[in-house]
Amino acid sequence: MRYFAGIDMGSTAIKIALVDQQGSLSGHTVVPTGSFFQKNTLEALQLLLRERGIERSDVAYLLSTGYGRKLLPEADETISEITANAAGARAIAGSAAIRTIINIGGQDSKVLLLDADGHIRNFVMNDKCAAGTGRFLEMTARNLGTDVGELGNLHCRSSGAPLSITSTCTVFAESEIISLLARGHGKEELVAGVHYSIARRIVRLARQIGIEDRVFFDGGPALNSGMVAALEDELMLQVVVPAAPQLTTAIGAATLARTAWIDTGEQVNA
Ligand code: ADP
Repeated sequence: MRYFAGIDMGSTAIKIALVDQQGSLSGHTVVPTGSFFQKNTLEALQLLLRERGIERSDVAYLLSTGYGRKLLPEADETISEITANAAGARAIAGSAAIRTIINIGGQDSKVLLLDADGHIRNFVMNDKCAAGTGRFLEMTARNLGTDVGELGNLHCRSSGAPLSITSTCTVFAESEIISLLARGHGKEELVAGVHYSIARRIVRLARQIGIEDRVFFDGGPALNSGMVAALEDELMLQVVVPAAPQLTTAIGAATLARTAWIDTGEQVNA
């Protein structure tokens, strides 16, 4: 059996997906990016292959994507995360007719518009301002002495109105959060306020190219139920969140790796 690897070398996390010759997902992993993209990626791949009982030589095609994609000479090909993300949403959502993808990552956020066949019509990206990214969520969690994985629960427990976070930059927002906490405001309302602040930013970004139903929400922050709720409120529509939203782009890259291998005709000699 041959396998195909999609490696999404994100600013915050490295995501790896493996698909088999039939295109089914055979394994996946998520590890922190750390400072050494190549070393950490190769170690994560080796561990995943060992866990799944797959030999490295059985990986017929390796496609890298994401922020650090050029830092992996072992890849057979690199591809933009926009292309990989759209391919992942197509593979996961199938016939669900996704027309908009909202992706929030660790250091950027982007919105893709798709046509009826799932091909990219337009996209817009924010990689300048951390206030609309997962970095803002990490900073919030750190200031509250909690983990990003807890922010959704805190949001769900909020009983009052979400606090208004007025700062437009994370550096000032951090001071604002500290001062709101010092004034005795609840963590829950504060976290909800941060989620709404990020959601408003991403919806403003999306409006630059238009928002069409159905909307697919992915990237690590889509694991956060509070972030999902705030985004749905701001969009005034329900979004589709895949079971493993952080892995969409890696799954897309693995799917495209399989297609590339089929297209080269190498399977004839396999
Ligand atoms: P990138 O591709 O840029 O590395 P990711 O799509 O991996 O980004 O998203 C990273 C972000 O996801 C983090 O900054 C954090 O805000 C959020 N995140 C990661 N894990 C979780 C989790 N378990 N629950 C909620 N949010 C998470």
